[in-house]
Amino acid sequence: MDFKITSKTRLFGVVGHPVAHSLSPVMMNAAFRSLGLDAVYLAFDVEEAGDIVGAARALGLGGLSVTIPHKEAVIPFLDGVQDDAREIGAVNTIVNDSGSLIGQNTDWLGATGAIEEAAGPVRGKLFMILGAGGAARAVAWGLVKRGAKVVVAARDQDKARRVAEPLGGLAIPLENAGEFKVHGMVNATPLGMAPDTEAIPIDPRAIKEGVVVLDTVYRPVKTLLLREAHARGAIPVSGLRMLLHQA
Ligand code: NAP
Repeated sequence: MDFKITSKTRLFGVVGHPVAHSLSPVMMNAAFRSLGLDAVYLAFDVEEAGDIVGAARALGLGGLSVTIPHKEAVIPFLDGVQDDAREIGAVNTIVNDSGSLIGQNTDWLGATGAIEEAAGPVRGKLFMILGAGGAARAVAWGLVKRGAKVVVAARDQDKARRVAEPLGGLAIPLENAGEFKVHGMVNATPLGMAPDTEAIPIDPRAIKEGVVVLDTVYRPVKTLLLREAHARGAIPVSGLRMLLHQA
């Protein structure tokens, strides 16, 4: 069926800087067409977080996805923030609720959804989170919310502690990550992302058989970490599955 853009068509989008690499427009427009929604979704390269909210309000946007570097910086400009996003300290979604712009976080649902789809419930299991930035905070929060325990391994110990300790987890240096026996691990650093595709956040010998390994990086789809996980009998989970579940 042909889709016609009219004066009633609602506008959604993703805001980031840079944003040209985003897969969200392809994914979300396919979802809109599949659901028969009169809506389109575009990518907006916005430098200043403060400009996002004014533009969304002035143009009456239905909602926005938020990506690097605005996930934290946009919070003070919003009309409200849902509890999970407030606890995580980052939003990846803004919903326009009759003129009120409300921040939400679905990254944690993306990570737990992708892991549980591949390897079953995380409850009672121990996860190693590599990195201590925004994605690490959302993933660690989600795993603990679902009943798992976390160790956060990062090169900056203050940041690792700030992620781990409120969740009852342990903070360790990144180079010690291989010393723990875990049920799962999540790469929440950009290591392995194109063009530096030979980078890996952990010594591959630490990846044991049966361990579930989520790489939040999805360019390339088969990162070196996921290829090593596959070769060692672990369960590789692509960042694309996380992207799909958060959407
Ligand atoms: P971020 O806030 O900048 O955090 C990045 C983390 O990685 C920080 O702990 C940083 O350490 C660490 N790091 C960066 N370069 C490193 C290196 N060379 N060696 C060791 N550690 C390094 O970024 P983010 O928003 O959390 O994003 C992290 C990754 O998650 C990105 O690749 C992003 O694309 C991905 N992501 C994927 C999805 C998805 O749906 N698949 C969703 C969200 C994010 P310092 O603090 O010391 O710099």
